[in-house]
Amino acid sequence: MIVGLRTFRVDESGLLLPLYSNLSWYDGPNTATCAPPTGERHGHAHAVPSPDCECGFYAYGSEAAANCNRHMRYVQAVVSCWGGVIAGTQGVRAEHARIDAIWLNPNVASWMHKRVAARYPSARMYADRQLMLAQHPPSALDCYEQAAPHRAAPRAGAAGLGAALLVLGVLPSTWLRQTALLWDAWLVATLAVSALVMWLLVGARAPGHRAAAFVTAGVLAWLLAPLFGPTGWLLRLPLLRGILVAAGGYLLTLRPGFFPVERSPKERAFCGVRA
Ligand SMILES: [Zn+2]
Ligand SMILES: [Zn+2]
Repeated sequence: MIVGLRTFRVDESGLLLPLYSNLSWYDGPNTATCAPPTGERHGHAHAVPSPDCECGFYAYGSEAAANCNRHMRYVQAVVSCWGGVIAGTQGVRAEHARIDAIWLNPNVASWMHKRVAARYPSARMYADRQLMLAQHPPSALDCYEQAAPHRAAPRAGAAGLGAALLVLGVLPSTWLRQTALLWDAWLVATLAVSALVMWLLVGARAPGHRAAAFVTAGVLAWLLAPLFGPTGWLLRLPLLRGILVAAGGYLLTLRPGFFPVERSPKERAFCGVRA
């Protein structure tokens, strides 16, 4: 058994859902089927997990690796993994997994805490995160790499690049055409963003790549807007709307006592089959 750490979304009924799938986990042993978080299914039958596919139950190998996931501030679970296991530098993908222990942010409503406990009777609920990790230490595998600490420079660079893209997309097209430097920058940015959209759709396999492609397509529309004059504002609408929704959602998380609860998904299917 390999012990790992992961996070879940919590739905109104107390079920734990992965971040990128609406297939909730069972209490006790779960068996993965080929339903990779990217939504891609390969036509061929194969053992789960497979090096060529992204399926299997995911778990981080260490607290440091897990803490890179923002959702860890709300929900943390210790999971035991067994059967077919593929280990990477940050954690594992496994064929079978079981939730051993659950910690929920103290902001969670007590009725929600009770619902989660009732859904997962064989998992131990912890109020103290450190105590949970002390009693269920994650397995230390040789292949795990020390997670690099988050540095400010790449983030500032990304923010600067994002701001530059936004500015290029609101400049009047006459400015773009008259200034060689601006025109070149616009052309390079548009080509690069187009290539990124294509890669996210076709090449990328990381969880959430479709959502990323969708957002990037919004950026592309924004960049193309100057070519269409005043009508171009229609092309800017998707990104503007996205920015407003994201800003609103972010502000909501800053509210004291915030704890995210998902609406129960329409899809009521479970992940894998009960062992
Ligand atoms: Zn698969
Ligand atoms: Zn496959």
